[in-house]
Amino acid sequence: CSGFEIAHLTKRYANADRPVLNDISFTLPHGKVLVVVGPSGSGKSTLLRTVAGLEPIQGGTISINGQVIETGRPGTEKAGRSKRSTALRTRIGMVFQSYDLFPNRTVLGNITMSPILVQKRDRAEVEQEALALLERVGLADRRDAWPHELSGGQRQRVAICRALILHPEVLLFDEVTAALDPEMVREVLDVMIELADQGQTMMIVTHEMQFARAIADKVILLEDGGIVEESDDAERFFTH
Ligand code: ADP
Ligand code: ADP
Repeated sequence: CSGFEIAHLTKRYANADRPVLNDISFTLPHGKVLVVVGPSGSGKSTLLRTVAGLEPIQGGTISINGQVIETGRPGTEKAGRSKRSTALRTRIGMVFQSYDLFPNRTVLGNITMSPILVQKRDRAEVEQEALALLERVGLADRRDAWPHELSGGQRQRVAICRALILHPEVLLFDEVTAALDPEMVREVLDVMIELADQGQTMMIVTHEMQFARAIADKVILLEDGGIVEESDDAERFFTH
């Protein structure tokens, strides 16, 4: 079972009369790309947040390569984050719609902060890797820039580097181009397509349908917190 698996995931928010995610199950083989689609409010963002460990789940399991990294616990509706350890948390990375770079750190500082402070990795080795990542996304010459000096598209590419340096087994993207000016969308989508080609396992929420069709190995359609359609044929899914 090399890959990522969700089984019977159920998620409730406090004071809600029904679960926001109800009995969600799917598998995503290693190196494949899953695109999650569905109407606004169907639970796409919540699904990614629970997978990332930003929200506790009340039922089901989340596993990577056969190892359960999270089990649902009833009664945790009001808890802040899930109880996942740092080591398990860093196995899943996430990039958000609004670039959340630290304003008081340079591009390089943003990328190297967690590996140095949280993972206690060697600074020189981490900086070398960060520069290689910046090279990959076409931003090597911006290493010493501050976030406010970057365009939105550049910030999202830095945010992707910051996630990649933790070597996540699964990388999550929640509407990462939705807040960008149209001319910057392509440069971010191109980085994601390159990652997919290199075998990065990814889960993506996007409204860019041409892109979704091109990148998806698998698609799930959410409605009211449940999977109503699942397809291994993105071409067909996005054409009908
Ligand atoms: P989508 O990403 O598909 O638009 P969301 O996951 O953002 O859907 O939201 C799913 C449902 O959960 C919506 O009805 C939304 O109002 C509700 N919801 C989202 N976040 C919270 C929260 N923190 N507390 C309570 N309800 C929430
Ligand atoms: P230093 O202690 O070197 O001055 P900072 O004050 O920049 O470092 O950061 C201390 C901690 O605060 C960091 O580990 C980081 O997690 C958090 N942090 C810094 N800036 C932000 C920000 N803009 N948003 C959220 N958290 C931040």
